[in-house]
Amino acid sequence: MVRLRKGRTLFSILLLIIVILLIKLISLESPSVSSKLIKKNNTRYTVIIREFESFDNDVVDTTYSVLNVCGDKCQVLVMSDDLIYPPLALPPQAKVIKLNPDILEQPPNLAQLLQHSQYVVLLPDGTRWSSSSQLQDLIVLLENGDSQVVGVGVGGGTLTCHRYNLDLRAWSLSIAPSPHSEACDSVSGRVTLILRTQHLLNLTHPLARPVQVSLGLQGAARGWKVHLTHGMVLGEGRQLFSNEHLQWKRQTLNDERQKGLFHIFGIKKVVRSSQEVEWYGCSRKTPRCFPTVVDDTPDYLYRSRWTPPCCLEGLRATARHVFQSLRACRARWWLEGGSLLGAVRSGDIIPWDYDVDVGIYAADVDRCQQLKSSRWQTVEDQDGYVWQRATEGKFYRVHYSATNHLHVDIFPFTPRDGLMTRGQWPNAHKQDQDFPEHFLRPISTISFAGVMAAAPNNVRDFLELKFGVGVVENPQYPNPAVLAYNNISARTPL
Ligand code: ZN
Ligand code: MG
Repeated sequence: MVRLRKGRTLFSILLLIIVILLIKLISLESPSVSSKLIKKNNTRYTVIIREFESFDNDVVDTTYSVLNVCGDKCQVLVMSDDLIYPPLALPPQAKVIKLNPDILEQPPNLAQLLQHSQYVVLLPDGTRWSSSSQLQDLIVLLENGDSQVVGVGVGGGTLTCHRYNLDLRAWSLSIAPSPHSEACDSVSGRVTLILRTQHLLNLTHPLARPVQVSLGLQGAARGWKVHLTHGMVLGEGRQLFSNEHLQWKRQTLNDERQKGLFHIFGIKKVVRSSQEVEWYGCSRKTPRCFPTVVDDTPDYLYRSRWTPPCCLEGLRATARHVFQSLRACRARWWLEGGSLLGAVRSGDIIPWDYDVDVGIYAADVDRCQQLKSSRWQTVEDQDGYVWQRATEGKFYRVHYSATNHLHVDIFPFTPRDGLMTRGQWPNAHKQDQDFPEHFLRPISTISFAGVMAAAPNNVRDFLELKFGVGVVENPQYPNPAVLAYNNISARTPL
């Protein structure tokens, strides 16, 4: 019995030793098991190198510098629109993503590429990372502040914080430096930006270039701020664009990209702090920004926007030219319809109007050479404005140019028994309505588009007769019903 018990005890001890050994073995194994898990799930951030030029870059060394510091915690994506030529000798951990696929390729899926990353770091080419704590500090700033983006300078260059005043309805952007602020809409200078992956993915064009302008614009539209860190700077790599030609090449590409950005975001006028205006819309040499108007409702109203500022400029110039021409030939004319309404309200074109309307005594048409000859043929005058008889009815139309069809309409009226009459037209507009001639005796003047224009006297009565009582105080889109039908708010805040 004793022997048996002894044997059992020995067996138990052996079993215990085996179990302990097994546990030890497992616990020895476990760090590598968990590190594998970490490898898979703990790619906490993605470094995107997007802002670089294929003809002169430091992407390879930048990538190595990042990977040396972040190791398994990050992935590096080098993203370019097209094939990078010459190709880059990147480490295998870095991926090159070509954003514009060839005919047999799949477009890259950004959400999938970033699925394991909580944060995205947008790194300009030629950056050096020295420690992972730099990034941790930035993440802490992002997590603890109320900014959606955190920016840190690269190298010792100047960083400027900018305020973007984006007025989408007016297709306009004004940019002003805000040097003492830490909460910027955009930062110029070499800067690394970090943001939450989800925020980047929610952007309309997350990878558009120039990255800083693109993020600034889309951020400003969403009420984001960039927190610019002071007292921390990332290292700088090789000097890029070291000669004038390379600088020129880069600047030219950058300007083109910026122009592309303004185009996709519908920005046609940019005012910088110098007060100099940059135009990105139509000009006399290009077609106007909006197509032929249907149902009295130009396309931009369906986009919840108003007349593009370039078009307003073109309309004003054409109006001033027409006024001057009509004055020169001593015709009796006056501002009509919506244009007169705009003049009374604000001394200018109504902010969503698409043309300018003028009335003229029919008997005076032949006094003006341009009008007289345009009855038979289209006439381009010496200033490049194009006069023609409109096909839709008995009126004349003066175009901004042969290419840009922004225009002023001139409606002839004939006095008959004390009434100014147009005759009946199938699609008569408000400005086509008859009215008592006493409004033109005498003809008055009103400020419009930067000059004095001829106008009916008692202009408020005149407008209320044509458009209804209270028209001056109650702005309305020309055809609110079609907008309402398309679920566009016809509310006109003024
Ligand atoms: Zn335009
Ligand atoms: Mg009009």
